[in-house]
Amino acid sequence: MFNLKQFEVWFVTGSQHLYGSKTLKQVAFHSQKIAKALNAAPAIPVKVVFKSVLTTPDAVTALCQEANNAPGCLGLVTWCHTFSPSKMWINGLKILRKPILHFHTQHNCDIPWSSIDMDFMNLNQSAHGDREHGFIMSRMRLDRKVVTGFWQDVAIQKQIGAWCRAAAAWHDWQGAKFCRFGDNMREVAVTEGDKVAVQIKFGYSVNGYGVGDLVKYINEATDAQINALVQEYMASYVIAPEFRKSGEKQNSLREAARIEIGLRAFIKEGSFKGFTTTFEDLHGLAQLPGLAAQRLMAEGYGFGAEGDWKTCALVRAMKVMSIGLKGGTSFMEDYTYHLHPKSMNVLGAHMLEICPSIAKSKPSLEVHPLGIGGKADPARLVFDTPPGPGLNAAIMDMGNRFRLLVNEVDVVSQERPLPKLPVARAFWVPKPDFHTAVTAWIYAGGAHHTGFSQSVTTEMLEDFANMAGVELMVIDSDTTIRQFKRELNWNEIYYGLRNGLAS
Ligand code: MN
Repeated sequence: MFNLKQFEVWFVTGSQHLYGSKTLKQVAFHSQKIAKALNAAPAIPVKVVFKSVLTTPDAVTALCQEANNAPGCLGLVTWCHTFSPSKMWINGLKILRKPILHFHTQHNCDIPWSSIDMDFMNLNQSAHGDREHGFIMSRMRLDRKVVTGFWQDVAIQKQIGAWCRAAAAWHDWQGAKFCRFGDNMREVAVTEGDKVAVQIKFGYSVNGYGVGDLVKYINEATDAQINALVQEYMASYVIAPEFRKSGEKQNSLREAARIEIGLRAFIKEGSFKGFTTTFEDLHGLAQLPGLAAQRLMAEGYGFGAEGDWKTCALVRAMKVMSIGLKGGTSFMEDYTYHLHPKSMNVLGAHMLEICPSIAKSKPSLEVHPLGIGGKADPARLVFDTPPGPGLNAAIMDMGNRFRLLVNEVDVVSQERPLPKLPVARAFWVPKPDFHTAVTAWIYAGGAHHTGFSQSVTTEMLEDFANMAGVELMVIDSDTTIRQFKRELNWNEIYYGLRNGLAS
């Protein structure tokens, strides 16, 4: 997709003038050392830049203004090596529009038993300095992440890394454009939502385009372009022999290639970060864009079927979060269940549009009838998903707020072959167990479409929800139905009070 190292988080240290210049120099020196270590940490995918030691209210405000205006700055990591009286942070924090992580660390690991003196005590004060810093952010009701621990600890660096990934996805959403061909699948509720509220809350816009606008680009695809793309297909996937001969299958592939060329041109020209299609509006298209959706998703575009723009945007955000990590991310749908008492699990799939980034091995390119949409047989990539940990996430518009819902799952190998099911698929056992997970998901109003990932973590999504200031509900190994229902009820009150009239 793109390199996350093009982005920066700014490491900022709070202090004051009480200690004199000698101590402040040491503060700066130690801060640089920590920032440098974080910058080099494999778990942190962006640049960590030491910015400054802030000692006055004006300096804090100026720094926050600078961060707001810096296009490559994802957010601030703050730390108070010494004590930094927090009233001097109020005006700056009031205007800060970027995410903030409060890193509660300490320069030294151990207490230097034999040499500790009052100079040491005057310098190494984060144990109380960071409490003052935390108070003002709680007092101002600021959403932020607090990470506590020694800066060389890899587990601590991972927590900062997760936040950086969420901040990159949040940055990517600001001003992002998603394109919707046609409208919603008729009468479906959960894929609807308030696009104005989304733009205010999340920063991205969704606009509709007639499928005829796309058809114009598809018709402009040349034979030479189509030949080249079909060649690329042949080289990239497992291909049945009948595709290599001219005939119906070869024609289907050429149509799929024509659609991909047109779709790609349309999306590039409009600078869209994702798109939705609907099988109810395919006028002028020979087949549903299955293969094209799969291949564009694999490059990092968001996708939602049946006009589902919320899932499309979420898939894009999850793609950004997982740049460079092992394991893929895809649009997904809970399709059908295996309810055998000894191995209850979910078969996840879609009609066609599952991202090959989650394929266990080289996908097989196939053409089969679809039985829905009334169009020619579409091309698609068919594959299985490797076992291991994963999650499903969905965003719903609850009327007065958006809810991000996450369910951790264990992806499992399928028990038997599926010779007559020509779609990409995944099997998973949701945590904490099938009954609890699915019941909780239904109580939360969770969508049937999700962003499925084997690289994005709950922590990243939690940080992301915090940045957006939206509700997060997690179904994991600790979930019980009774507690989950209580939380849903409490959240009704909390978000009602917090949001007032604006969702
Ligand atoms: Mn669907």
